[in-house]
Amino acid sequence: LLHAGPTVAAEGTAGQRARWLPPVLRGDEIWCQGFSEPEAGSDLAALRTRAVRDGDTYVVSGQKIWTSHAEVADWCELLVRTDPDAPKHRGISWLAMPMDAPGVTVRPLRTPAGSTEFAEVFLDEVRVPAGNRVGAENDGWRVTMVTLSFERGTAFVGEVVACRRTLDALAAEARRNGRWDDPVLRRRLGRLNAEFRALWRLT
Ligand SMILES: Cc1cc2nc3c(=O)[nH]c(=O)nc-3n(C[C@H](O)[C@H](O)[C@H](O)COP(=O)(O)OP(=O)(O)OC[C@H]3O[C@@H](n4cnc5c(N)ncnc54)[C@H](O)[C@@H]3O)c2cc1C
Repeated sequence: LLHAGPTVAAEGTAGQRARWLPPVLRGDEIWCQGFSEPEAGSDLAALRTRAVRDGDTYVVSGQKIWTSHAEVADWCELLVRTDPDAPKHRGISWLAMPMDAPGVTVRPLRTPAGSTEFAEVFLDEVRVPAGNRVGAENDGWRVTMVTLSFERGTAFVGEVVACRRTLDALAAEARRNGRWDDPVLRRRLGRLNAEFRALWRLT
């Protein structure tokens, strides 16, 4: 809903939109994001996971890390290097990879807090149909910027809504118990309201 879906809506073909979007909207299929690698974090374009074209499929080998919810995902929006000789931002493609494809191994990472939300994903000659590429071959960096724009825009929408609801509840309670007459309290709530409204506009 927050990154793969909007990317497919914006950049996918009619067939890709028809195949992938309805299950996302119904909550029937979950996507994870296979972008980061051990040597490609902030410098994402340094990614090395390789996809070699073999007829109508790509043969993908490499490793991803910090893949949130990989254990439960049905699909992975996967960044791969399709042209190792091109400048690093130009040789990348964006693929939709089924997580149950042979050669995909998910190894959960346990955080200090005990959760296993992240995983490493190992890819050993995974065959991905070329028809699962979103955008043109080697144009994946541009598609990635589309994905990240959606993700940055919507990632915290739930938190903003929760903040606004809590503020409404606080104001209602202050009106109920008589504290609403306190100008200091009203000013503080008003300021928070302005900040949350600004945050909502940015979202
Ligand atoms: C909650 C969470 C969920 C995530 N989920 C996913 C996911 O689902 N899929 C996925 O692919 N990735 C995911 N990530 C990974 C995330 O995108 C990366 O952590 C991020 O890209 C940074 O990479 P890195 O951790 O390797 O840090 P690094 O790139 O090693 O950076 C470490 C520190 O060095 C600084 N730094 C790096 N380069 C420079 C420089 N040139 N100059 C100055 N400072 C620099 C950075 O600002 C940072 O403070 C997730 C991360 C978090 C925190």
